[in-house]
Amino acid sequence: MKKEENITNEFFTDWKYAPAPESTDHIKLKKQYDLFINGKFVKPNSKKYFATINPATEEKLAEVAEANEKDVDLAVTSAKNAYDKVWKKMPVKERSKYIFRIARLMQERAREFAVIESMNGGKSIRESRDADIPLAANHFFYYAGWADKLDYAFPNKKPQSLGVAAQIIPWNFPLLMAAWKIAPALATGNTVVLKPAETTPLTALKLAELIRDSGLPDGVVNIITGFGKTGAAMVNHPKVNKVAFTGSTDVGKLIQKSIAGTNKKVTLELGGKAANIIFDDAPIDQAVEGIVNGIFFNQGHVCCAGSRLFVQENVADIVISKLKQRLETLIVGDPLDKNTDIGAINSKEQLNKINEYIKIGVDEGAEMYQSKCAIPSKGFFCRPTLFLHTSQSHRIVQEEIFGPVLAIQTFRTIEEVIEKANNIPYGLSAGVWTDKGSKIFNLTSKLRAGVVWANTYNKFDPASPFGGYKESGFGREGGLHGLMPYLSF
Ligand code: NAP
Ligand code: MG
Repeated sequence: MKKEENITNEFFTDWKYAPAPESTDHIKLKKQYDLFINGKFVKPNSKKYFATINPATEEKLAEVAEANEKDVDLAVTSAKNAYDKVWKKMPVKERSKYIFRIARLMQERAREFAVIESMNGGKSIRESRDADIPLAANHFFYYAGWADKLDYAFPNKKPQSLGVAAQIIPWNFPLLMAAWKIAPALATGNTVVLKPAETTPLTALKLAELIRDSGLPDGVVNIITGFGKTGAAMVNHPKVNKVAFTGSTDVGKLIQKSIAGTNKKVTLELGGKAANIIFDDAPIDQAVEGIVNGIFFNQGHVCCAGSRLFVQENVADIVISKLKQRLETLIVGDPLDKNTDIGAINSKEQLNKINEYIKIGVDEGAEMYQSKCAIPSKGFFCRPTLFLHTSQSHRIVQEEIFGPVLAIQTFRTIEEVIEKANNIPYGLSAGVWTDKGSKIFNLTSKLRAGVVWANTYNKFDPASPFGGYKESGFGREGGLHGLMPYLSF
């Protein structure tokens, strides 16, 4: 038995996969992208463009326009006109046909979207191909189904659309976040101005092309690119009725301040620092896989990442030893290789931030363990990293790192782990691993987190609402709940 175990371990650590790169031949990127306003690509008033790169190679992929206040005004005005003259008046059945068409076109072009997502964002092709793009298309399908049934969704409440929605999204799930924003807004009869993050504009611009091809009436969806200033101009525009923001807690707070005293509706999906809790009766191998899935895939660029691990003390040794073994088998590298587990960090700025936190963890006295894997010399990459013997007061336990860094603590009792898991400014998500259903129900009612996964992690479905407590924001996206922030009653 012992011998067999050794053979298995050697087999895994010595195994080398042949390169399996996804082809990029069919990808057509323009040299320069303009702003998508009123159904057309138009030159920015700013006359400025900025480069967008591939974080795995540091090569420039394209230039995209920087929208200034004048451009924001044109986009919002176009959305307002489309709302008043077309979209608000359109029979709900017709609206839903357009949303279905967007979903179908996205499915048809799924491979192209997946490759561009990985090229521009750094995430592994496996992730963009199997998660991001299908989930984005499913989101449009799901909300297309609601568009003509709002009276059934909210009986006797007479739901009304709001008007123009300004939607601002981050770089970790570029197309998926665009879908989370646009699909419910359209289904509820609103029109949209969306801004992707500065580092990942390309799939949003491809989506603009798709929307143009879908025949959606001009101005119903406008997509503009730029930096934080562009986002701020959108939030502050007087013709905007609704602000939907996903991003950092700091920017979320700024947005809330700047709309105070207006009657703009707002939803904020902000940061997280999820607890992944492993009890001694958990299926250990599955739990280890769940830990890896929770924090290392997608480079830890996940707001709901299981970045704090709590292991019951009597199984801590075995869980940590298996986790270390599993870490050594993770492949870090070319996002376009189908065998890659961990792709590139999204930007140099983010890599510096992660490295700073790794240094903080070491300085705070936690014990660091990093995979010994090779990483490419060019591009932005980070080895999967564990911190053992951390405590609640450590900054690496309290603050969102947004990288492949896991802070591990042990616990003895349920009361202790609930107290520790909740003792944090965030409350977006959590995970529980145990054989006992009663423990799961006990914990889910006491953990202050919007989503709690049991014996799994990072599972998404358009029918399931997602959103946070405390500094993780408010409002829900997905499901029936996701319609409400776009309606008045
Ligand atoms: P970020 O810096 O807050 O940026 C998010 C978006 O806001 C970007 O499009 C950004 O533009 C824009 N922005 C920046 N300053 C702004 C301002 N003053 N007014 C209006 N818009 C402004 O966040 P990030 O670094 O891109 O993303 C990572 C964060 O997002 C993490 O904290 C993560 O937890 C959170 N996140 C949360 C969820 C969720 O559902 N709760 C999902 C994904 C990510 P630029 O890119 O040009 O700066
Ligand atoms: Mg930013």
